[in-house]
Amino acid sequence: MAGNVWAKVDLSPVGVGGEAGGALIDVLQAGEGMLMFLRFEAIYAMLTAAAAREGVEVGDADHRVVDVFASVAREVAVALRVAAGTADRQVNLAVEAAERLPQVARLMRDGVISVAAFGDVVLQTTGVADTDLIAAVDATTAAELREMGGVSRRDAGDTARRAVAELDPDGVRERRELRGKGVHVSHDVDGSDVTITTTPEDAVLIDASVSAVADRVCADDSRSRGVRRHDAAVALLTRGEFACDCGNPDCAATGSAATVAERFASVVVHVVADASTLSGDSDKAGWLDGFGVLDAHHVREIAARGDAITRPLDIAGLADHAAQPGNAYRPTSACDTAMRAVFGSCSEPGCARRAWSCDLDHVCEFNHADNAAGGATCPCNLNPKCRFHHVLKTFASDWVDDQIVDADGAIWTEVTTPTGYTVRSRARNHWLLPDLGLIPCRHGEPVAPGSVDDAAQPDRVRTRTQAKHAYRMRIRSRRRYVQVCAAADWAASIEQDGPPPF
Ligand SMILES: [Zn+2]
Ligand SMILES: [Zn+2]
Ligand SMILES: [Zn+2]
Repeated sequence: MAGNVWAKVDLSPVGVGGEAGGALIDVLQAGEGMLMFLRFEAIYAMLTAAAAREGVEVGDADHRVVDVFASVAREVAVALRVAAGTADRQVNLAVEAAERLPQVARLMRDGVISVAAFGDVVLQTTGVADTDLIAAVDATTAAELREMGGVSRRDAGDTARRAVAELDPDGVRERRELRGKGVHVSHDVDGSDVTITTTPEDAVLIDASVSAVADRVCADDSRSRGVRRHDAAVALLTRGEFACDCGNPDCAATGSAATVAERFASVVVHVVADASTLSGDSDKAGWLDGFGVLDAHHVREIAARGDAITRPLDIAGLADHAAQPGNAYRPTSACDTAMRAVFGSCSEPGCARRAWSCDLDHVCEFNHADNAAGGATCPCNLNPKCRFHHVLKTFASDWVDDQIVDADGAIWTEVTTPTGYTVRSRARNHWLLPDLGLIPCRHGEPVAPGSVDDAAQPDRVRTRTQAKHAYRMRIRSRRRYVQVCAAADWAASIEQDGPPPF
């Protein structure tokens, strides 16, 4: 191609060339989705044209269709300067976009999901062969993704996975049972790999167990976390020793067999599911912390394990028991579980750190000096944040995060960046606990939040901190005011003109 024709296109109407920030990055990603959609359309048009020349249908099992595929894939490979396998995948994605997942593909065109997210949906749905079933999966997944707000790759994959699990529970179970298990060892020039192929719940359990041992060292241990996890895993599998390497004879971390046993006893893997799923009355999917969506059969299999403990979760009871009696700052264990379950991971858009490894953050800061004046310990004001994002919230003064519960009980988080770009995302597991946001709040609006949820020094209020919180309060209330006005305008326009044609 002589020169890039795109260099001559005026992109200023979409903001290219203007102020750079999150909004521009978002627009550019939407552009990638649009261009990829057009690429898939073009490849599919090449396929249908070639098929017409051969007098065959693209979907046929005829050997001439194979020739059509091969010839189009070769042209794509030449145009993209890629290997045959890469070109084949492009042609396959084009067929997926045109025939199997047209509604999800349109979300990529519309900038709702990224190109990578579309690829993840394809991956989660490849096992579905039935035409009616894939059409239902496509429609359900697209409808759900449109409602979610900021959609990450993981959100897209999990949403498709849930649609497949709930629409095709028997198929999912069959495919899951076909998955092999094993331990595979391979040797390379400079090292060797051991791969354990197992169930997601055992993989999460192994991961947590390795960490439980690997983290049993003092601050002077010289190894990186990766190396410590390796040493711990090898020690566990070979019944070897694992100790802190600081060399200090007084190191408190040189644990006995009893401390190791204690660590293991504290390793817990969390699965959240409806009571109706457990009893077999419904095929509603469940959620495995650190993994994602589980089909209903799988939830029941895990619940039947000898080492599983089942605890009911009383959502309605949270209205009166969100905070611990005698400590308004600490959520009850039911409230803690519910908030981790409904978010499923760190609440920062795109962050996949598992919910049970996060801190539970008071979005509007709790006031230790005057509990009623600050942010409440209530589902409307709590979300999980991984240590990294929790620390960022504490120190990045020009970022604002907010949490809003809409009229349908969906819990939304909003992150506003220093350039004024806002991402609004629904709690990713809203489907799992749809009633959580409907429980009534028993507290007033915050007027003077206290210090950040820094457990080390909750009562020390610095001037800079106070200024930061006042700033956040102002932004939050302004944003809410704008939203209330927009909602009122919308309601008024529906009253006047009727609902928009859907
Ligand atoms: Zn040590
Ligand atoms: Zn995070
Ligand atoms: Zn509340």
